Amino acid sequence: MDFKKFILPHIWNLKPYSSARDEFKGKEGVFLDANENPLGSGNIPEWNRYPDPMQWNIKYQLAEIKQCSVDQIFLGNGSDEAIDLLIRMTCEPSKDHIIICPPTYGMYEVSASVNNIQIQRINLTNDYQLNVSEICENINEFSKLIFICTPNNPTGNKLSRADIRTILAKFQTGFVIIDEAYFDFSDEASFISELSTYPNLIVLQTLSKAYGLASLRLGMAYADPILIQLLNKIKPPYNISGATQSLVEEALKNKEFAKTSAETLNNAKKDLISKLKDLPEIITIFPSNANFILVKCINAQALFDYLIKEKIITRNRSSVTLCDNSIRISIGLPEENNQLIEKIKRFYA
Ligand SMILES: *Cc1c(COP(=O)(O)O)cnc(C)c1O
Repeated sequence: MDFKKFILPHIWNLKPYSSARDEFKGKEGVFLDANENPLGSGNIPEWNRYPDPMQWNIKYQLAEIKQCSVDQIFLGNGSDEAIDLLIRMTCEPSKDHIIICPPTYGMYEVSASVNNIQIQRINLTNDYQLNVSEICENINEFSKLIFICTPNNPTGNKLSRADIRTILAKFQTGFVIIDEAYFDFSDEASFISELSTYPNLIVLQTLSKAYGLASLRLGMAYADPILIQLLNKIKPPYNISGATQSLVEEALKNKEFAKTSAETLNNAKKDLISKLKDLPEIITIFPSNANFILVKCINAQALFDYLIKEKIITRNRSSVTLCDNSIRISIGLPEENNQLIEKIKRFYA
């Protein structure tokens, strides 16, 4: 793939900011290069030095976990940062567009709009799968990115791998971004293993869900090293704080947590679903490969309002395309899920 053709020229040609920590990489020495405060940080541990702009320690850990190479990894301040940078790298404002498949994650649209990029919406089918023929028919010279979220938020289901492969093969004039934020909860293999097959593929993952680190803000983009270099060039130099880097390094040493918490939450999900199934006012519980479920019910708005009054916060998705009367429920602890069931019963009683 001739990447240069699909990257905006001013980005391709950009000379990046060179930080003090880029120019000298050693750890020992008298550091008089970055205008830091040598006295420390006051009453907290020392955070007075700028962090590693390339976050190598975390990348080495992730490369081993994900079985990829360190130069295929970009780290962002949440995957939301990667979404924004990818749009800015490829789309020319008020001319190019991204393709999204509603109902889906809201940030693709917000990020595009912030950057004055048009949005082409090709809705999912009624069973929440990709409308492959519509997508392919709508690709034109202004299509730069196709966002595919699997397992999809807010519907919870995984999308057909064959469909995704068809789009990857068909769309050769831009990039297909597969958002795998909920990958750990699903039994599917990650598309990271297919990066060498599809140079136009970019995979997003995050530590915000199964890894339980939403507050630290760390998202990953996996792609061809050429694209990773471009992302590194346009990111803010120190986009991942030192505190985040050191806590993530520590958290990733626990090799089991993401896997076991995904199992635990998947079991809790099964239990919650079996209890919701007994309630006639719950019309549909959509199949979920994520740590949440979408349920269609009678009078979603009133149920949602009632639950809030009872201090149980869910997400009303009723106004979203193809989600009328539907509420998205994150899987909580067993006792939290039971409280939810009790309140729903009381509401419909
Ligand atoms: C939660 C979520 C993310 C994660 O975003 P972060 O910025 O990494 O917290 C990304 N994509 C989807 C679809 C999500 O639901």
